[in-house]
Amino acid sequence: MERGGRFTLEWRAGMDLLEYQGKQLFARHGLKVSQGRAVTSVEDAIVAADEVGYPVVIKAQVLIGGRGKAGGVKLASNESEAREHAANILGMDIAGHVVRTLWIEHASDIASEYYASVLLDRSAKRPLVMFSTEGGVDIEEVAEKTPEKLIRQHVDALDGLSHAQAAQIATVGGADEDVVEGVADALVALYEVWLQEDATLAEINPLIVTPEREVKALDSKVSLDGNALYRHPENQELSDRENEDPLERRAKDEGVQFVKLDGDIGILGNGAGLVMSTLDVVAQAGGSPANFLDAGGGSNAETIKQAVDLILANDAVKAVLVNIFGGITRGDEVASGLIAAFEEIKPSVPFVVRIDGTNDVEGRRLLQEASLPNVHAASTMTEAAEMVVALAAGQGVGAAA
Ligand code: GDP
Ligand code: MN
Repeated sequence: MERGGRFTLEWRAGMDLLEYQGKQLFARHGLKVSQGRAVTSVEDAIVAADEVGYPVVIKAQVLIGGRGKAGGVKLASNESEAREHAANILGMDIAGHVVRTLWIEHASDIASEYYASVLLDRSAKRPLVMFSTEGGVDIEEVAEKTPEKLIRQHVDALDGLSHAQAAQIATVGGADEDVVEGVADALVALYEVWLQEDATLAEINPLIVTPEREVKALDSKVSLDGNALYRHPENQELSDRENEDPLERRAKDEGVQFVKLDGDIGILGNGAGLVMSTLDVVAQAGGSPANFLDAGGGSNAETIKQAVDLILANDAVKAVLVNIFGGITRGDEVASGLIAAFEEIKPSVPFVVRIDGTNDVEGRRLLQEASLPNVHAASTMTEAAEMVVALAAGQGVGAAA
């Protein structure tokens, strides 16, 4: 993306879809799914259940698996059952995800539960199709305990997944003979979802066979590639904004990679690898990071200002460590960004700044000249981590920068 006359790379977070959104993509590519409605209240759930027809299944829409086990998936054969389940599931907390949306669909009869997924195998540099007749359960467990029951087959990225290869996967995987064609159709459609929607993962668990021998996606797990979202304007509004952490949402809007953590030391770095090692070093020094924030390669003054803003929006933060290694990112740009941020935000918590690499001397000089209150310079990562941990604990350190 062109910015300030220079070319910079921007990383965009991926987007996980709720089950019903994934199913909408599935339907667009010809995968069979049940008709349903997404609702946010018990009354609307009842209206939806009447529309799709009893029996219905009422499903929590949260970005986490294992909803069934947690009580977030219930069958209802009449209005009073639907009312009871909808009321119970709305507001339910499933592993930290509060249920605000329900998906109501006509319940399916199930003869078999299979598993299917498509993803990119980075080490093989090829798309990978997985299939198992042991669906409906935790697939990691199948992979671990009975790996022979999870078929893994690479696909030639240029040729794509042919119906013949899909049928072979279904056969080798042990799909009932009379549904091999149906499973192959589903695999080809799933591959198409993965490819054409720029997904990083497209998974169906369970892919069911009904007593009528229809093959159908009963669940969906789809992650879209954030960097390709610009090619899919119709998918951009699918993000589960309401259920996102407000800080992470803001970070996404600003194109910054940010993950909120539980500690009290704010972290700002450039490059995912550097930020990860910064977290490690802080933990080794006895501190607890409040976030992961990668301002990205080629971070400029404006990005740094936004990043500081974001970190300080978290009330738990008691001290901040800025760890910049200049490559594409220039130390002087980072220093200017920090100075601008401090002038505007006037943070009340101490900062430890380590700038190394491209234009580091200039960057440190700018910081020194600005003589910002509460900003401490460190020359190595270890020193920086020790300083920030002491500051977060309310202890003083040496001279300010
Ligand atoms: P997950 O637990 O988050 O993976 O949610 P799923 O959508 O996979 O549902 C969990 C389980 O509920 C499935 O494996 C099925 O056994 C069951 N289930 C979901 N929908 C239906 C349905 O329409 N009919 C029946 N009989 N069972 C269903
Ligand atoms: Mn499932």
